[in-house]
Amino acid sequence: MIIYNKTPLLELKNQIIEQSGVRVLVKREDLNHPLISGNKWWKLKYNLEEALRLQKKTLLTFGGAYSNHIYASAAAAEELGLKSVGIIRGEETLPLNPTLSFAKACGMELLYVSREAYRRKSETEFVTQLHHQFGDFYLIPEGGTNHLAIKGCAEFGKRLIEEIDFDYVCMPVGTGGTIAGIVEGLSGQKQVIGFSSLKDGEFLNGEISKYTQFRNWQLNQDYHFGGYAKTTKALLDFARDFEHDFEIPLDPVYTSKMMFGVFDLMRQGYFKKGSVVLVLHTGGLQGKIVSFG
Ligand SMILES: *Cc1c(COP(=O)(O)O)cnc(C)c1O
Repeated sequence: MIIYNKTPLLELKNQIIEQSGVRVLVKREDLNHPLISGNKWWKLKYNLEEALRLQKKTLLTFGGAYSNHIYASAAAAEELGLKSVGIIRGEETLPLNPTLSFAKACGMELLYVSREAYRRKSETEFVTQLHHQFGDFYLIPEGGTNHLAIKGCAEFGKRLIEEIDFDYVCMPVGTGGTIAGIVEGLSGQKQVIGFSSLKDGEFLNGEISKYTQFRNWQLNQDYHFGGYAKTTKALLDFARDFEHDFEIPLDPVYTSKMMFGVFDLMRQGYFKKGSVVLVLHTGGLQGKIVSFG
């Protein structure tokens, strides 16, 4: 269906890591596909299979103007020969940003809706209206999170535990779908830590719990840096130094915040000495609108 490139596992070494007495491994899942990358590949996998099984001709989904999910969905639809529609929150701003211009170049039809209308996007009335406008389609919710996305991420989690020896696994959190799926795939084993990229992310605890009964996870909310897509000088400085030291690119919305959190927790002696901390690079580099350099 959609190609999957095997991804490297790298070990990070520096003084902070050495002093904290742990090993840090980074799974470069961002390299699994050039366009449908990172966690979005796994979230889309079974949704795309289902869309094809149902012989849908169109994929319809939702997102903000910088959504990695919109980007990945547009690329996936094009690769599979499906039409695609993106319902975008807010007003159109021209020229289109790189995410939306890419989506459009993939053939995605973009419909802008007001923030008020966008909030009603899961209501039947709104979806019926969309069917009147676009005909039949396969609907993927905002951020791509649904049961089939959880199934894909669970498969990723299962693969991690089969291939890698680790004690903790860390990842960024947006809607909570990825972490919930990975927790499922790990079947209660290991300690799972999600780093919220949103301010006021408390509700995410409930979102994650909708998809998994396991309790070996926690949501860290200390590293959102002001909220979704917000940055601070400290974050940008950290990301620039990290990229320089380890030659691993980070994105400003998700992976840089998580990585900052992981290093900060290491400094605080949070991780048990002698343990292995697995960090998932979930991708997002196409949305990289600021250069840290
Ligand atoms: C979308 C995204 C996330 C968030 O995934 P959720 O399943 O919504 O929690 C994390 N990292 C990157 C790079 C993403 O693009």
